[in-house]
Amino acid sequence: AKAQKEPGYQAAIDHAYTKYKDLKEGKNADYIKELATVDSNIYGIAIVTVDGKVYTKGNLDERVSIQSISKVFTLARVIEESGPRALAEKIGVDATGLRFNSIVAIELQKGKEINPLVNPGAIAAVSMVKGNDSVAKWKNILDTHNAFAGTKLKLNMPVYISEAGDNLRNQAIAHLLYAYGRLYFDPVQSTDVYTKQCAINVNAKDLAVMASTLANGGINPVTGEKVVSPETCAFTMGIMSTAGLYDDSGQWLYAVGLPGKSGVGGGIIAVCPGKFGIAVISPPLNEVGNSVKAQKTIFDIVKELDVNPYHVT
Ligand code: GLU
Repeated sequence: AKAQKEPGYQAAIDHAYTKYKDLKEGKNADYIKELATVDSNIYGIAIVTVDGKVYTKGNLDERVSIQSISKVFTLARVIEESGPRALAEKIGVDATGLRFNSIVAIELQKGKEINPLVNPGAIAAVSMVKGNDSVAKWKNILDTHNAFAGTKLKLNMPVYISEAGDNLRNQAIAHLLYAYGRLYFDPVQSTDVYTKQCAINVNAKDLAVMASTLANGGINPVTGEKVVSPETCAFTMGIMSTAGLYDDSGQWLYAVGLPGKSGVGGGIIAVCPGKFGIAVISPPLNEVGNSVKAQKTIFDIVKELDVNPYHVT
């Protein structure tokens, strides 16, 4: 009876799962060598409602690296600690319109108006997080992710080591920002902490709780912990709406109507404010770096639940 009275969360998840489980489009990221070795068949879906109910399907046992989705939670921490104005002035909030690791994006405006959901702005956000040294900053960031997820998340060491040995482009980004006075901590250490945050291991349920904490105005719906303020959530979701899915952010908002964020590990989250958070993991990506199956899955579920806020009937 319970399942019938509620919106059909489980049914919507099951329908999408059945429809897409055998889809074989896209390819794992391989510019971070370790990501190419992740099982492409991992497919996990989770919805967590703001009253703490959890609905899942598929593979929840294996965890993948969070990658770019971490940018959302570090961004939220920076807004919470320093305020929305500092974020807008010291980093910027407009979409760059360029690739996620673009150096041109920095060069165009001498490090101004970069975006915290793509690499330059994300490394700058790490540099702004409170903490006197890199150990304290990392602890702050991991604690933040843990509070959003309501569990103690672990680092994916092989991914961290693989990327740390190979992140010269991100180091170049950090140094260039630093040269323009737009990085607020040591560039080598900022890049290292950033690389660590990208290697935090998550499953779809962890991500859905994190997304649901945003949907719930900053209170984790499972643990009841107040993680950030409702204002911080609103500012964070505003940036997710315009820049959450790389170069396809516009197409995403056009199709789904909800703030989202993807990562090259294969995860995508979306937030339905006041209702639920949803997350899907499936490693194969399209050309711009978004999980093929996760996009289709979330699109179908949002449509079936009829929760696009722009759709007024
Ligand atoms: N750690 C990845 C990088 O910096 C994250 C990229 C992503 O998920 O967009 O290249």
